[in-house]
Amino acid sequence: MSARPLLRVLPSPHDRVPDVRFCGYCGARPEADDDRRVCGSCDMGMVLTASAAVAPQSGQPSIVIDDRLTVCAVSRAAEELLGISEDEVLNRRLVDVLAPAQAEGVGLDSLVSAVVTAVSPDSAPQRAVVRPAGEWGIRYAVRIGVCGPPRAALLVLDDDQV
Ligand SMILES: [Zn+2]
Repeated sequence: MSARPLLRVLPSPHDRVPDVRFCGYCGARPEADDDRRVCGSCDMGMVLTASAAVAPQSGQPSIVIDDRLTVCAVSRAAEELLGISEDEVLNRRLVDVLAPAQAEGVGLDSLVSAVVTAVSPDSAPQRAVVRPAGEWGIRYAVRIGVCGPPRAALLVLDDDQV
């Protein structure tokens, strides 16, 4: 494993990816003319906008984190993957749900800085490797970008363990 597992993708102004709208709970993508704030598919999730490079594909686990690094939304797939319920973790700290799974000596700061960088203006999506808090031996790649409104960080877990 690399001593610096946090990959940084350099932003390219010529490589703009379009934004897509998706439900923060079930991941459904509303029709273009459907501008409701609450998802019409599950009637539970808020419809969010994010870059297509970050937004979850159907059924991909995702978590939304606000600027205080607390949990604002957990998708159904993330509830299932992590064995948590959204109610249980709302307003809890990100690190109570996901912890960095990185080489020794690289700690929490790298996950926090990936989140902070991802929501900075004109920043490219970030990548990190995480594990469920309190568990060892399970690791997931996560991509991190900005979503909203309101502006927040979107973490999408890759289904495949790394
Ligand atoms: Zn939905």
